[in-house]
Amino acid sequence: MTSTDLQQWTRVRDRLRAEVGDDVYSSWFARMELEGSEGDTVKLSVPTRFLKSWIQSHYAERVLACWQAEECGFSRIELTVRSSIARIHGTIGKAPEILAPPRERDVRSKCADLRLPNGPIAGLHESLGGSPLDPRLTFDTFVIGRCNTLAHAAAKQVVIARRDEPVMFNPLYIHAGVGLGKTHLLQSLAWAGNASPDRKLLYLTAERFMYGFVSALRAQNALAFKEAVRSIDVLIIDDLQFLQGKSTQAEFCHTLNALIDAGRQVVIAADRPPSDLESLEERVRSRLAGGLVVEMGSLGEELRLEILRSRTAAAKLQHPGFDVPPPVLAFIAKTVTHNGRDLEGALNRLLAHSKLTGNPITLEMAEREIRDLIRPQEPKRIKIEDIQRIVARQYNVSRADLLSSRRTANVVRPRQVAMYLAKALTLRSLPEIGRRFGGRDHTTVLHAVRKIESLVSTDNTLADEIELLKRQLQE
Ligand code: ADP
Ligand code: MG
Repeated sequence: MTSTDLQQWTRVRDRLRAEVGDDVYSSWFARMELEGSEGDTVKLSVPTRFLKSWIQSHYAERVLACWQAEECGFSRIELTVRSSIARIHGTIGKAPEILAPPRERDVRSKCADLRLPNGPIAGLHESLGGSPLDPRLTFDTFVIGRCNTLAHAAAKQVVIARRDEPVMFNPLYIHAGVGLGKTHLLQSLAWAGNASPDRKLLYLTAERFMYGFVSALRAQNALAFKEAVRSIDVLIIDDLQFLQGKSTQAEFCHTLNALIDAGRQVVIAADRPPSDLESLEERVRSRLAGGLVVEMGSLGEELRLEILRSRTAAAKLQHPGFDVPPPVLAFIAKTVTHNGRDLEGALNRLLAHSKLTGNPITLEMAEREIRDLIRPQEPKRIKIEDIQRIVARQYNVSRADLLSSRRTANVVRPRQVAMYLAKALTLRSLPEIGRRFGGRDHTTVLHAVRKIESLVSTDNTLADEIELLKRQLQE
């Protein structure tokens, strides 16, 4: 290779970077190297077969055009996969950046002779051990509804993808609030994927990634790292929002790039979209957003009910006496609106209660048990004042009107709606609600609640208004 070749190569790279942008460049071309030239052919290499085929199918012409802009007479590009072993031994000082960040090199030279009983790679595998999986969290127990159809389908797709097929979307990034089934879905994926012996799926919480994976990598050399990465077909990282620290992030970014470049699937869950992961660097965020980003919404009432049913059925297998009447399930599905974790908690409460007291589960008992269970975890405490304010605004009356003893129709209905909402959305008792509505009797409140309940089933306009009010209050 002549020095002219090298100078031209530097300019070609700069040109390419300017054309495709930093992100694309660092994803696909950062590790492309010039091997030499022969006649009209310039020879380039990349470290993985996946990179090779990707560049060939997406960027071959562009790369050639960059060379031709140098007027160097090349009309062909030959792209090869360079052997990792030769590379690492031959150029240890400039091992691929992505795999061996500078800070790691010192560690690596110290550890170069480290030999674990089964050799460094087996040792690394051991230390790569994923986070424990909960046997209950499988696809069989995962209930599908409108809020999670897409995420579920994407996870299934990852499971059925074959090892040698190009990855459809990478990374797969799933985000949702607490208790909406991220961990359940990810663990289902890990169970299902690992059922086939020729694939290895590794499930790690971000915490485990920080304290286990990264340090295991640091203690190994770049070759072992590559081997380890190659041995993982799917890396699953849960709760990415907990990933902290600059160096951990750098390691994460290297791992992410290495896996994606090697054509390995990466699946990530977090409680917010990539753009809101404020502690992550912009380039990591954009890499995360570059695959498929799917949101899972709140569990709708039907889905909650379905989850409760399946949970109860499972519990019944172990505790045959455990019987939850359908109205109780419906009540829990309705009132425990927050998330799957609360649903589970509510059922556990009932189970404990029925085991300890031997009493059958009734609506009354459930109401009592569940209230005191969900009270401290309510995501947003809706205040009676807020209900009064929002209802008054909606119906164009004043809050004082709602509390007054006026009985004109334009005040009576909003007042009843407000009382009904107070009962439905807060944990206040009927007498307490009565007191807060200008010192009314609890029977008045009960009457209002029943009245609205019966109207809602026939009057669609009112039903819509109430839905709207609820949404405004819950936001
Ligand atoms: P996240 O990780 O999003 O905080 P989890 O996956 O831990 O939520 O879910 C919380 C609880 O709700 C678990 O018990 C889980 O099994 C249950 N759950 C959530 N979504 C579903 C679903 N679609 N089907 C069945 N169970 C679910
Ligand atoms: Mg979780």
